[in-house]
Amino acid sequence: MNMKKVNLLDLDLDALTTQVKAWGYPAFRAKQLYRQLWVNAVARFEDMSDLPAAFRDFLNEHACISNLRLMLEREGDGGLTRKAVFALPGNETVEAVLMVYPGRATVCVSSQAGCPMGCVFCATAKLGFLQDLSPGDIAHQVLWAQRALAEVPGRIEPEGAARHRVHGPEDVPARLTNAVFMGMGEPFNNYTNWRASVERLHDPGGFNFGARNFTVSTVGLVPGIRKLMDDPLQINLAISLHAADDEIRSAMMPVNKRYPIAELIASVRDYTEKTHRRVSFEYVLIEGKNDDLEEARKLADLLLMGGKFPMHVNLIPLNPVDDIGMSRSSRERVSAFRDYLESRGVPATVRIQRGMDIDAACGQLAGDLARDLQQAAAGTKG
Ligand code: SAH
Repeated sequence: MNMKKVNLLDLDLDALTTQVKAWGYPAFRAKQLYRQLWVNAVARFEDMSDLPAAFRDFLNEHACISNLRLMLEREGDGGLTRKAVFALPGNETVEAVLMVYPGRATVCVSSQAGCPMGCVFCATAKLGFLQDLSPGDIAHQVLWAQRALAEVPGRIEPEGAARHRVHGPEDVPARLTNAVFMGMGEPFNNYTNWRASVERLHDPGGFNFGARNFTVSTVGLVPGIRKLMDDPLQINLAISLHAADDEIRSAMMPVNKRYPIAELIASVRDYTEKTHRRVSFEYVLIEGKNDDLEEARKLADLLLMGGKFPMHVNLIPLNPVDDIGMSRSSRERVSAFRDYLESRGVPATVRIQRGMDIDAACGQLAGDLARDLQQAAAGTKG
């Protein structure tokens, strides 16, 4: 008989208590276990020293911390960026990226293996949809980042990367400060599990992560945006806009045929009216596609039409992805685009890219474990 192990990170304290009692152990063991999982972010039952050895053995046999198995970690940007590759039971892989900045640390989390949205410039899209991650599988990536943060050396000043500089141990935060759902997959295409992962991580008796420290990024699934505006938790919202012209956007992002720009922006305006929260727009700059000043003008018109609302534009020069036949805009064009938006009163910044050297930048997460393993093996040779 092939018994499925219980995925512990999927459970809140009540459900865990019910489970532990059903296994014939007292309720206080559930409390201890919950603390080890969520407060101490312990990755192995062996390391939960306050649990009796017999219970740890039992857990090894009947439970798992999540479905994700950590296969590989890679370091970039002089140790300030770290990517994890996890395998699911069917050997699909998902990735998470930790980025350390002076005084803050952000983890970029995947919500699905592969992605069904089909954006033409994104490496993950090429995989197609593989599967939804469970709440615990999503949350596990944040716990991994908290563990990984402890290993980031205190003083790193990578050559030629002054902008990444972390000056001393006091600049590396002890606690993760932000979790962004900007990894593989479309969070609003897996809304229930995504939202449950936030619930798990938010629990004050557990990981205790503040709602305002989460940012969810969507390709523009309007029903998800509408759902989020009624959510009591103040989770930040980012929208992958990438074009202010329906023809251009539909060619880049098939979702635009279902939820065209006007409908998307109307939902975002309703969101800001209701929540009074600032929304960010991501705009990937692709040479000759969406990066000339005419497109900047359309973008400013779109965002200003109907009155100002709290928002910010993040410009992201396209990161290289194999075989897509597109390249990033030149620095000059990126600056000109930003300057134009600013001149119109639209706040815009160019996002500093992390993890390009380890295929961990926006749009580069391809779950290509085989290739990663090969590269890791090549790196250790000689
Ligand atoms: N599905 C969600 C979450 C992915 S977030 C969404 O679409 O928002 C990742 C961000 O990186 C998105 O804004 C995505 O459009 C962007 N991106 C995808 N491919 C990219 C690439 N090659 N270069 C730069 N950004 C890219």
